[in-house]
Amino acid sequence: MHNFNSGPSILPQEVLAQTANAVIDFNNIGLSILEIGHRTNWFVDVMEEARALVKELMQLNEHYEVLFLHGGATTQFMQVPMNLLDNNATAAYCDNGVWGSKAIKEASVFGHVNVVASSKDKNYTYLNKNFTVPQDCTYLHLTSNNTVEGTQWHQFPTTNTPIVADMSSDIFSREINFNLFSLIYAGAQKNMGAAGVTLVVINKNILPKTNRNIPAIMNYQNHIDAGSLLNTPPVFAVYVTLLTLRWIKKEGGLAIMQKRAEQKSSLLYQTIDELPIFHCPIQKEDRSNMNAVFYMQDENLQNLFLNVCKENGMIGVKGYRTMGGLRISMYNALPLESVVAITDLMKDFANKN
Ligand SMILES: *Cc1c(COP(=O)(O)O)cnc(C)c1O
Repeated sequence: MHNFNSGPSILPQEVLAQTANAVIDFNNIGLSILEIGHRTNWFVDVMEEARALVKELMQLNEHYEVLFLHGGATTQFMQVPMNLLDNNATAAYCDNGVWGSKAIKEASVFGHVNVVASSKDKNYTYLNKNFTVPQDCTYLHLTSNNTVEGTQWHQFPTTNTPIVADMSSDIFSREINFNLFSLIYAGAQKNMGAAGVTLVVINKNILPKTNRNIPAIMNYQNHIDAGSLLNTPPVFAVYVTLLTLRWIKKEGGLAIMQKRAEQKSSLLYQTIDELPIFHCPIQKEDRSNMNAVFYMQDENLQNLFLNVCKENGMIGVKGYRTMGGLRISMYNALPLESVVAITDLMKDFANKN
């Protein structure tokens, strides 16, 4: 199979094999990863190695803490403003698609939202990068890669305001100066592991930011103090993430992930642009290296194309439910061969139709 799923999505084969082994017998201890206590040394070592690997791969300085939390990126849409935004304070948000809009909605439950940049006017086919953040904003929130719309920030805005980024769909896919961000979050199921765990990277200096009375389980500081073991963490998902992080490091780290992502996406976009039956509406400089969103000039051909994909073992090519069209996701674990295979198929399909 060629797995172009947008999430949950492809994982490295060796990570799957190691996971399968650990479900039966974790580290030859005679027990499954699913049946050991989260406060045993066995699991504490897993958690500590995973947190340390995040710091190492992202080259984070000593001000940062790494947490593995429950609830998906969607919970971060509310946990971020709950911890950082006072009732009478204002946060700046970029509105570049489905996920950013949801984050905006949640933030407005806790404080004021100033949408400083939106690309809604052109159906989210570009990133509006021409904006300034007012001095009074507590933080600026953006989505580094718009999974649904197929845009990606290739250069981040420069501002003195702390930046919060939802990196769910391009985490660990490229070299960035991560120390420029005050808070980064990412659901694991796109580029980092199995569903059920969310990575939160936080610069301790931005806490505490509110006078709000925060429920204990929602308070970042409590999770930091507890070493990301405040309550039972999603042990299985954390373990799969650890295996994926080890794989990324072994392959050569973020520089290699970036090189591969650029190779794969340039082949795909080049093919789309060359073949008149396909068209990608996304402004070239903002195109995502993770999720390519494109359409067929003749919509009637789409189902035929999707069927041909299926017959050839290519899955996950259909666009997001509200978007229609096509989407090919090219996360870290997707081999270049899969992109070669689908671009060959696209050329063949174009010849025949
Ligand atoms: C998938 C996705 C989400 C939602 O993640 P959940 O883990 O399902 O809550 C949020 N933001 C982005 C950018 C995503 O791609």
